[in-house]
Amino acid sequence: MDKRYLFTPGPTPLPPQVQEALSRPIIHHRTTQYRALFKRVLEGLKQVFQTTQPVLVLTSSGTGAMEAAVANLLSPGDQALVVLGGKFAERWEELCRAYGVTVATVEVAYGDAVDLPRVRAALKAQPGTKAVFATLCETSTGVVHDIQGLAAIVNGTPAVLVVDAISGLGADECQTEAWGVDIVVSGSQKALMLPPGLAFLSLSEKARHLIEQSKSPRYYFDLRRSLKALEDDDTPFTSSVSLVVALDEALKLILERGVAGVIQRCQTMSQATRQACQAMKLELFAKRPSNGLTAIVSPPSVDCKKLIKLLQDRHQVTVAGGQGSMAGKLFRIAHMGYIAPSDLLVALGALELSLAELGYPVTLGQGLGAAQTVFGSVKPASTGAAPAPAHSVRA
Ligand SMILES: *Cc1c(COP(=O)(O)O)cnc(C)c1O
Repeated sequence: MDKRYLFTPGPTPLPPQVQEALSRPIIHHRTTQYRALFKRVLEGLKQVFQTTQPVLVLTSSGTGAMEAAVANLLSPGDQALVVLGGKFAERWEELCRAYGVTVATVEVAYGDAVDLPRVRAALKAQPGTKAVFATLCETSTGVVHDIQGLAAIVNGTPAVLVVDAISGLGADECQTEAWGVDIVVSGSQKALMLPPGLAFLSLSEKARHLIEQSKSPRYYFDLRRSLKALEDDDTPFTSSVSLVVALDEALKLILERGVAGVIQRCQTMSQATRQACQAMKLELFAKRPSNGLTAIVSPPSVDCKKLIKLLQDRHQVTVAGGQGSMAGKLFRIAHMGYIAPSDLLVALGALELSLAELGYPVTLGQGLGAAQTVFGSVKPASTGAAPAPAHSVRA
């Protein structure tokens, strides 16, 4: 009976068009019907990735594409540089180690963004570096890193730049080709408004060249197979038909608004959330905040776990807590994909009520008003002309 609201940075709510597509009868993947749809999807993905280079579709969660990138680019003993700064960046290091790759790191404190001169210095110290791994939006801290600046540094070296944009793509600017990012990895369940289960990977020519040379063991995630199949708008193994059919609908929605419009809308929502936090005297965790989510430091007087539980139990508002060492210290509200400005007002209103109930000094309406002011100040075109229906699902 209760309406539920999902504000986690993955999975995110599904548009009704996507839900409808998921319920359609299955079709066979080796048919002209499916081939045509898949071809359209591949073209749409290129627009979202802002590249003319191939984008591969893998059946896995986002991490599968991260692993594919490591296994296909590098051989055991190769040298890689990983830009740290959160749980997801650490995954790059773990993956490299799993494949016997020698890893150097650029340390970044949680909540900070990468200091570019340190990357330049690290690459100078390790001229044999074959790949640099970084993260667009570090979902665990809410930080967006300067990938354009990073690419400018890496492009002057023989190394390839691989970016985890699993939560960033479709929320933060990501000009794959113009910036010169060799591999951009993404996933279905964040800003792309789909259930978990698909991963994506764009490949520059430089990256495709390396793939031919890697001596790492690989089979299902052998991107040579995927690239071969792509010549016929096909996949080497059974395509995740229903998810791809749903992706076709999600891409239509994104391209209807335009990639720039979608990113702009996320930016407005992140501004509104930050203004609301400031009005409520809540501290932000990210020094360079992403458009897709806001990480908020739990005030010392408030039990973070109780706050998250109260939001859930009383208001059916699901937000994410902190991960790893950030557990109990922060909570994260997503504003990407099918989360609309009006939805965000629900989250912020519930947050005020919950904070007040836990004894935090907040005047009801304080944060909401600040967010409303932001939404009220943007032109209708950038908040989206089409009214978005409520995203909640039935319990
Ligand atoms: C969600 C996320 C991942 C993990 O993706 P899975 O789909 O859980 O494998 C990796 N990196 C970032 C930045 C993410 O937000």
